[in-house]
Parts: sequence; C-alpha cells; structure tokens
Amino acid sequence: MSTTAPALFVGHGSPMNAIEDTPAARGWAEIARRFPKPRAVIAISAHWTTAGVRVMSDAHPRTIHDFGRGFPQALFEIQYPAPGDPTLARQIVEKLADFGAQLDASWGFDHGAWSVLRRMYPDADVPIVQVSLAVDQSPQFHFALARALAPLRDENVLVLAAGNIVHNLSAFFRTKTLEPWVQRFDRFVTDAAERGDPAAILRYASHPDAAEAAPDWDHFFPVFYALGARRREEPVSIFNQHYEPGISMTAFAYGLPQ
Ligand code: ZN
Repeated sequence: MSTTAPALFVGHGSPMNAIEDTPAARGWAEIARRFPKPRAVIAISAHWTTAGVRVMSDAHPRTIHDFGRGFPQALFEIQYPAPGDPTLARQIVEKLADFGAQLDASWGFDHGAWSVLRRMYPDADVPIVQVSLAVDQSPQFHFALARALAPLRDENVLVLAAGNIVHNLSAFFRTKTLEPWVQRFDRFVTDAAERGDPAAILRYASHPDAAEAAPDWDHFFPVFYALGARRREEPVSIFNQHYEPGISMTAFAYGLPQ
C-alpha cells in the first residue's frame, strides 16, 4: 500500500516560533500528528531565493541562521540535523528539467524551513530537500513547477511551503494594531482556496490590498506550491489562522486523512 503525503503551506512568521511556545508552533506540531510520517519532505522557503531553480543536493545540509543579530543566542544555537536526500534531489531535478532546475550544494536549511520542521519532526528523522524560489518568474511558473512535484506525494513525500500570506514588516514594526487589510487579504486567499479557485490567487496582485499585504513576493509565492501540488478535488483544510500587525500566520493543507 502506498501512502499519499499532504501538501502544506504554512505561515512561518518570526524565527522565534522555533523556540517560543506560540499558537502557530503548536499548530505545526499538531498537524504533523494528523498524517503518517512522510518518507521525505520537499521544503520551499521564502528565505531561499535564487536565479534559476536550485535543488539541495547535500546528504547532510547545515543549519543556516539567516536572521538579524537582535535575536537571542538560543536561536543561533539551534541545529536541525535532519538528513538530506541526494537521490530524491536528483529525481526532483529530472522532474523539473523543463524548469531548468539544477542541483545545488551551497545552501542549508534556512529558518523558514527549520523553524517549522523542528516542531513537526523534532527528532529530525525525516530527510529534507529544499527547492529554491526562482526570482523573476511569474506566479504561473511556480504553480506549474509545483504541479510537476505533485506526483511525488504519492511516494509519501510531503510538500511543505513556508512563507506568509500577509507579510508586511514595516506595518509589523510601525503599529500595534491589527489593520483591517491583514484579515481582508488573508480571507481573500483562504476563501479562494476553499472554493478551489487557484486562478483567483494567481491574480493576487490585482487585489486592492495586495500592495499592502503582500509587498514581498518571496513570502507570498510559497502559497503557489501548495496550490500547485494539490491533487484534483482535494478539499483544503485551513489552520493557524492567527494574525499579528502586518502578518498572518495562516496555514492550509491538502490531502489530510479524513
Ligand atoms: Zn520569513
């Protein structure tokens, strides 16, 4: 019997979610208990952007602490020693030949990936391959790329995309209040996901709140990876719909066991 692994998008927010007991971190741990442990994870993070598509080829990727010095030492001491999976990485590069994907040994696990994965799989016993976000490509490119990855889910490979539907750091630092566009834009995306209407999300830039809610393409585009990796007719499960000023932590999943 084969197991089909889910496709997930998670809002990862602050790196502090890796070490603080937050609602988002609890939600990540809980979702991982709702489906069988995958054979491997393909992780797409807002924090690995490259010219062209790159696929992590290391057998033992390092843990990257890619955030500012203002964070506590405890965060810099985190190691997430999950193995890589060079065989899966080669398989991915073959599947993504039309997208110009290449193996890459320069990167490691960035905090967008490990802050979530250490909550989901604290024993670091699931192999992980990160796939980069290629710069200067359309939403349709990323969506199509994710569709090419989708069949790997049937080999019990989890697709995990980490960004934020709403990610406006200047609003986060400017205000303590939750401005209405945060929830409005987040609901626009989750409503479209519930309708099974990825086309509306691919056109997100024309939404009146997009400039404020999603000024950074790198945090929004991981959404397209979960949308693209959805199998036909799979219903969406929305979780972690928590808000902070300028940030939504919303996550959604396809293919959770009923
Ligand atoms: Zn981030």
